[in-house]
Amino acid sequence: MILDSSLADRHAKSALDRSRELGAISELPDGILRQYLTSEHQRCNQTVDHWMQDAGMLTWQDAVGNQWGRLPSKKPDAPRLILGSHLDTVPYAGHYDGILGVLLGIEVASIINEQNLELPFHLDVVGFCDEEGTRFGATLIGSHALAGNFNSDWLDMQDKDGVSMAQAMEDFGLDPNRVGDASLKGEDIIGYWEVHIEQGPVLEAHDLSVGVVTAIAGARRAKIVIKGQAGHSGTTPMNLRKDPMCGAAELVTGIEEFARNCNDDRVATVGMIHSNPGAVNVIPGRVEMSLDVRSQNDDAREELIAMIESHMNRIAFDRSLSFEMHWKYGIAAAHCAQKFHNLFRAACVKNQMPAYSLPSGAGHDAMAIAPLCDMAMLFIRSPNGLSHHPAEAVYKSDVEDALKVIFSSINQVRA
Ligand SMILES: [Zn+2]
Repeated sequence: MILDSSLADRHAKSALDRSRELGAISELPDGILRQYLTSEHQRCNQTVDHWMQDAGMLTWQDAVGNQWGRLPSKKPDAPRLILGSHLDTVPYAGHYDGILGVLLGIEVASIINEQNLELPFHLDVVGFCDEEGTRFGATLIGSHALAGNFNSDWLDMQDKDGVSMAQAMEDFGLDPNRVGDASLKGEDIIGYWEVHIEQGPVLEAHDLSVGVVTAIAGARRAKIVIKGQAGHSGTTPMNLRKDPMCGAAELVTGIEEFARNCNDDRVATVGMIHSNPGAVNVIPGRVEMSLDVRSQNDDAREELIAMIESHMNRIAFDRSLSFEMHWKYGIAAAHCAQKFHNLFRAACVKNQMPAYSLPSGAGHDAMAIAPLCDMAMLFIRSPNGLSHHPAEAVYKSDVEDALKVIFSSINQVRA
């Protein structure tokens, strides 16, 4: 079944209008910010709740603050298909990151409701409460709670004003002891589908409206400490130096070269560097830098890390420096279910669009849902690859294409 172009036009317009309307619910006077467990979170959920009801859905808010709507099947014990993304934002956000995925879910439900299409499953739409982690620092809170992986230590985390998450939950009207109630059982779920802006330049470079995600890249992050010998910049001859800054420079360009030569989805980035003591006339004694390595292939990522480590050891030997690698964070890649990946690709073809697959370099709620049930993602082109920025944009015709792909896919699952 194919979505009629006039319906696609009307519902894409509705999703875009509502994205802008939600942008007005903000903690900032001159930009968009909606953090977890704030009055803006409350108002956003209420607004989305109304829209869900307009689409013919039953609505509720779960124990962690996720907003839900359901277009029910006539069979009360039917399984559920979940569409969703997140409703929270970073500071000075755009209008579409996360939000658009939730609103497109509501539009799809509205179309199915208008057309009186019978569903052998409940069509659920979820707006996750906190994906970005802006307020407390823990990310993917809403989706982790759904998968039963809410970490109770998070309740003690504090925002910049010293308010704990537990306190904020109580102020919001949630019981921090009941967060476990938000978790779902995987056997009742057909799958979780997330439409999201790409947040990168790949679809634009290929002149494509949408792309089917293969996997969400796993990532490892480390702090690298390079130690040498501090000294006076005027009195220490070049041949008697142990300069960790020069070792760092060699390492940074080495990291770029190794990752570039992989010629696949592997990326490695040094985003922060700090020298100590950090004075114009002092050879630093110690340099610290960050390392972020990602790939949808966990083994390939480890291989790149091993290359970086051996390069580091060679630099240390050549320059009489010492290196330490402190691993801070690691998450395995999350693979989209092959059957849904194929379904989305077939839906692209059915709607006369090229079927293009790509990995996601950024994290998404879908990766937290992956341990719970089969998941899939569809990306919408990001003009200029821009996101987490007020100038974040989407083309309306791309949004129509995404609606068509999801509508056709749902009908395929329905059949
Ligand atoms: Zn997002």
